[in-house]
Amino acid sequence: MFEEIYLGIDIGGTNIKIGLVSKSGKLLKKFIFPTPKKRADIIDKICSQVNLLKTRFKVKALGIGMPGPVDSINGIVRYLPNLPGWENVKLKAIFEKKLLIPVTVDNDVNFMGLAEYNFGAAGKSRNCVCLTLGTGVGGCLILEGKIYHGSTMNAGEIGHMPISIDGPRCGCKARGCLEAYVGNTRIIALAKKVFKKKVSLEELSIMAKRNNKKAAAVWEQVADYLSVALTSVVNLINPDTIVIGGGVAKSGKVLMSRLKKQIIKRAMKAATKNLKIVFASLGNDSGIIGAGYAASLSTRKNAQKK
Ligand SMILES: [Zn+2]
Repeated sequence: MFEEIYLGIDIGGTNIKIGLVSKSGKLLKKFIFPTPKKRADIIDKICSQVNLLKTRFKVKALGIGMPGPVDSINGIVRYLPNLPGWENVKLKAIFEKKLLIPVTVDNDVNFMGLAEYNFGAAGKSRNCVCLTLGTGVGGCLILEGKIYHGSTMNAGEIGHMPISIDGPRCGCKARGCLEAYVGNTRIIALAKKVFKKKVSLEELSIMAKRNNKKAAAVWEQVADYLSVALTSVVNLINPDTIVIGGGVAKSGKVLMSRLKKQIIKRAMKAATKNLKIVFASLGNDSGIIGAGYAASLSTRKNAQKK
């Protein structure tokens, strides 16, 4: 069987995921394997997996999402905060030479956003802002149907929008970034203060769903911080949809209802008129679906050029 497929790859600090994606963005199959430590081993491992898949499928193109800043026009990884040895790596050129298929490289959150925009929670929106809440806080802007990269391809870093002048120090070394308030580590620290013991995010979510007032208060605090940053986003971009993904999204109703209330209260009325705020719906697969779909878009663009 030689079905035409696109490959979407997500390189994370722990695992590498490869998804087989149809032209219409349907995830047909996925493989997961641990991320090797060295860059050369990561590249070799991916090449051997892709070559294996090429013997079974008609692989048309490949999309790769990277956990860090990427020059997506030239396919160059600028650096990866959690994986050493990735400074200015011409990943598109390396893979295209080794695999002989078109390769698209972008930031992983951009691919997640692209998937949610086209196949997930964003529905039929035109302008959409996606947010992933985890250890880090990532963001992506899809404006008029396209990923907005910005002039040096660093747009969408909502996690590093300051929400106070002199707040806690962030991983990026600046002070008061949203990530320093709502990153997983910070939420766990907040919960520890409230419960006087270590509470995991899962426990905190379960407790909130069972109407535990203390747990709800922690999520409301998180929602309040988020609302400050997202109000700026709403006033600046005027999106029709905000999609929230990542582990924190599991907290459910408490966070969401508080967040909506606060944004409506804070933002300009005209900007929130048609605003929808929703949780992501594709879960952990959004990165590989978006990467595979971006790969399919790139071949369509190339076909148009010819
Ligand atoms: Zn920061």
